[in-house]
Amino acid sequence: QQDLEKGLEKTKDSFFSKITKAVAGKSTVDDEVLDDLEEILVTSDVGVNTTLKIIKRIEERVAKDKYLNTTELNGILKEEIQGLLAENNSNDFHNFEYGNHKPYVIMVVGVNGVGKTTTIGKLAHKLKQAGSKVVIGAADTFRAAAVSQIQLWGERVGVRVVAQAMGSDPASVAYDTVKSAVSNGDDVVIIDTAGRLHNKVGLMNELTKIKNVMQKVIPNAPHEILLVLDASTGQNAIEQCKQFTQATDVNALALTKLDGTAKGGVVIGISDQFKIPVKYIGVGEAADQLQLFDRKAFVDSLFK
Ligand code: GDP
Repeated sequence: QQDLEKGLEKTKDSFFSKITKAVAGKSTVDDEVLDDLEEILVTSDVGVNTTLKIIKRIEERVAKDKYLNTTELNGILKEEIQGLLAENNSNDFHNFEYGNHKPYVIMVVGVNGVGKTTTIGKLAHKLKQAGSKVVIGAADTFRAAAVSQIQLWGERVGVRVVAQAMGSDPASVAYDTVKSAVSNGDDVVIIDTAGRLHNKVGLMNELTKIKNVMQKVIPNAPHEILLVLDASTGQNAIEQCKQFTQATDVNALALTKLDGTAKGGVVIGISDQFKIPVKYIGVGEAADQLQLFDRKAFVDSLFK
């Protein structure tokens, strides 16, 4: 909670404080306040469509009650924003939702630099701490550093890593990993993949091949296709989300680097635009600075 509030400080300062300024000295929400609010949301990476949706909802409430007190505005905004975010089943890694799958297979996708490796290391750490047996498959065999970085994280957090030489077939690594997870009785498999977005057909083929070989061992794997996005890149993150959802069936999002960015509003826009739940957020570089996304805690932190 403290990490979350600290992590979201810049986002909060940049736009939710602006809202307070916009209503200062005004008793009712008038057109001017709504115009200011619209501008604040758009410039805070909430996205144009999502912003218009929020403004329209507030206008409807103003129309219904004839007027809206500015002191009520924050509460209503909180409600509207929370309504645009997907609810997670749990905000505690001890109650992590495996949906009766053992092992539960997470395939992680995303372009280089967004914090994919770090997120995998943190996730392995958090799940292990919560009592799960975790194994990581180093199937990003394209980058020289990727395999060794994953191995380093494995050593650091005490989680087994299955790897082959750089340049080997990613699908073969994924196959080895799920095979060994089954024989080892592991609870969770996390598969790293290469994020080569500039070659979309290549990316699509590679991810499909990885899925197919894993399904030879576990019929409905992967249970989670997790796209990692860097929140500090704002609209770029939205563009990457567009591209990856076209390449594979992404069903969960991790937004990293929320600390130190004022672009936290992108969480709201992405959730609303893609209807894919934000499941994890990164609020720092340390192993324990990954959280299961809690929409209420998120919104509360923004308005605190
Ligand atoms: P990859 O290329 O996508 O695997 O990216 P890395 O996992 O190597 O991360 C790139 C950089 O971002 C590293 O310096 C990480 O420490 C940093 N990073 C990752 N997640 C977070 C986060 O949530 N907060 C902060 N502040 N830094 C992060």
